[in-house]
Amino acid sequence: MLSIVNMNIQIELTNRCPFECDYCVRKIWSAKPCDISLERVKDLIETFDPERIALYGYGDPTIHKNVRDIVRIAKKRAEVVMVTRNYNFRENIDLLVYSIDTLSEFKKVEGYPVSIIITKDNADLIRKVTGKAKEVYLTNLIPYNREMYEKTAFAEISKKMLDVCIDIIGDENFLRNLVKMDKNAVERYRKMLEVVENVNVRYLVDKADRILTALKFESLLSELNVNKPNMFAGERKCPYENYVFVRADGKIFPCMELAYEHPLYLGYSTLTVECKSADKSLPYPWCGDCQFLEGCWFVENGFDCYGYECGCSRCLFSVGIARCLI
Ligand code: SF4
Ligand code: SF4
Repeated sequence: MLSIVNMNIQIELTNRCPFECDYCVRKIWSAKPCDISLERVKDLIETFDPERIALYGYGDPTIHKNVRDIVRIAKKRAEVVMVTRNYNFRENIDLLVYSIDTLSEFKKVEGYPVSIIITKDNADLIRKVTGKAKEVYLTNLIPYNREMYEKTAFAEISKKMLDVCIDIIGDENFLRNLVKMDKNAVERYRKMLEVVENVNVRYLVDKADRILTALKFESLLSELNVNKPNMFAGERKCPYENYVFVRADGKIFPCMELAYEHPLYLGYSTLTVECKSADKSLPYPWCGDCQFLEGCWFVENGFDCYGYECGCSRCLFSVGIARCLI
């Protein structure tokens, strides 16, 4: 039998879920409900011989009828990670993380590892839970529509660009002068380009509020002992470099993000994310920093200027804004 040594796996045990989380992709999809079979799980473990197995996907893994058998089999071969919202499920797993939205939910799992999605409105929850949970894992909200986007606390530009351009945030005069080719503005712009490859001036000027919110959260998170995401795009790295994702129907995908077709609403466009192409080496630029982003023909037409169709191009996981527990 084929054995792909050292390739870790994330297995979606089921895509069914009894919970109604506000920000779940399940609210906007129409995937056929299904559960993976015990035989397929055994096969996958034999084939990949993983060091680490993540047992969760877009459904709640604890409702799979064989969940305890699967945990037992997985534990014999690898480190096991699971994320659930079922606060009654207690198993001796290497990392069992409870996903929570409110303080009342947290009371049921106080002392355990928890995961929280950062939104503009939940700084208080994060503060209160820190120190009481065993560990806190944070990720930013992935926006599937405009309404969700308005609740996010991150900014799409990179931290590197922000640091170089911090003094022009919200400065319409700079943009106006630059467009008029004012000598001072052009000189400042040229100096910025000596440090970063691209300056998305439009974003810096128009999205000042977003940038300030992201800075506020960045400062809050730096004071807390939590596992935190980036609030601005960081160095690009695919978290699934050494992983595959197995969907509940048994099919294999490059990662969880590409396993189901879904919209992704970013400030500049709505994309349909689907698994047409994936290049985990991420050879292309980050659109959030690009000066051509506003009205970019490639972005509007669903691919990027390197010819890739919406796979990894604008992946929030690849810049550390979104984080997964694998
Ligand atoms: S796809 Fe468009 S916005 Fe993105 S990097 Fe290329 S030119 Fe810039
Ligand atoms: S979409 Fe993101 S997480 Fe998935 S393979 Fe591409 S870079 Fe990696």
